[in-house]
Amino acid sequence: MVRYGELSTKGKNRKQFIQQLARNVRAALQAHPNVKVSAMRDRMHLILNGENGQEIIDKLQYVFGIQSFSPAVKVEKDLDTIYAQSVALVQKVYQPGQSFKVNARRSDHEFELDTFALNREVGYHVIQAIPDIKVQMKQPDVELRVEVRLDAAYLSVETIKGAGGLPVGTSGRGMLMLSGGIDSPVAGYLAMKRGVEIEAVHFYSPPYTSEQALNKAKDLTVKLTPYVGNIQFITVPFTEIQEEIKAHIPSGYLMTVTRRFMMRLTDKIREERKGLAIINGESLGQVASQTLESMTAINAVTNTPVIRPVVTMDKNEIIEIAERIDTFDLAVMPFEDCCTIFAPPAPKTKPRLDKAEEYEKRLDIEALVQRAFDGMQVESISSTDSFLNAQPKEFEDLL
Ligand code: ATP
Ligand code: MG
Repeated sequence: MVRYGELSTKGKNRKQFIQQLARNVRAALQAHPNVKVSAMRDRMHLILNGENGQEIIDKLQYVFGIQSFSPAVKVEKDLDTIYAQSVALVQKVYQPGQSFKVNARRSDHEFELDTFALNREVGYHVIQAIPDIKVQMKQPDVELRVEVRLDAAYLSVETIKGAGGLPVGTSGRGMLMLSGGIDSPVAGYLAMKRGVEIEAVHFYSPPYTSEQALNKAKDLTVKLTPYVGNIQFITVPFTEIQEEIKAHIPSGYLMTVTRRFMMRLTDKIREERKGLAIINGESLGQVASQTLESMTAINAVTNTPVIRPVVTMDKNEIIEIAERIDTFDLAVMPFEDCCTIFAPPAPKTKPRLDKAEEYEKRLDIEALVQRAFDGMQVESISSTDSFLNAQPKEFEDLL
């Protein structure tokens, strides 16, 4: 039994939210075709039909838009059955000295007992069976939920916290600028949590950057798939642009101009793929290039909303999330990405937009952007994919 999160407050969008959540739950449970998902107005029920409950529990914990859920047993709406099954459930989890309460609800208003009487009667039967159990209304050790619905009664003793957030897809699509670092995967996770469907855009510069750096970005994407099913991964060749910048732009503006090209390209890809926003991992003041002046100069190439989920977080706050979503260990592997390799020794911390624009006149911006755009490759990444491990030899050499 699945309880919805914030969507219950979303008024007329509610139906669309529930439908999207049901699609996402089905996608998350692809490997369990027998599960029947029925999404009602106030609850979602998954009938397991013999599928492994623990595996379903593990997967549901990733689905955004779920407040909490409970493994429940469905029993006949017959009082003796309800009493007997309730007692059996509590006996299964009860440890000596623990307290309990019954929390009854009914949506079947024709049922012979109302919630008050249900609480009392079920409680009575539990105490008869387990005389030492204490009754406690506030924060009991065991909360037995009894829900009498139209089709049957549902009993549960366990409530598992869901991922919270909004169902992915209910906030439109955004392009995540995904490097191989710590911050951008966290940014992607946080955007998904608020309902944004993401596609990952990764710039790479062979032969300056290795196959490993690319595979690392793909493996980071794999880590984000449990929240959504598959993620489109878009590789954009960036070598020519970086060489041109290196040859023609003063070193203090290398970083700014490089980022402006990434932003232009991401925006062009977004437009082609019908996205509404760009998401990146910029964090204010984290490195010299992430100042407000710098963001202003970089952002000036587009009017598209640029969402920076980690912009105000401290590094250790970002790392905490990275560890929780298991992207940290991968992110700190030392494969240089395109930015580290071409990074100037001292980027301007307060670049000026007019200067950046002036220097860029030395480059054929449109042609460069078009060629990189034409070279992009899209692949669908799923939770069972693995990239770095698929090439064990080179990988071991590096370690
Ligand atoms: P991260 O930890 O995400 O790499 P960072 O702190 O290293 O971020 P920068 O290297 O300044 O920061 O990059 C800022 C943002 O620009 C990144 O978070 C990412 O969104 C984007 N970005 C940087 N390099 C790439 C790349 N090769 N491909 C795609 N996006 C990139
Ligand atoms: Mg980086």
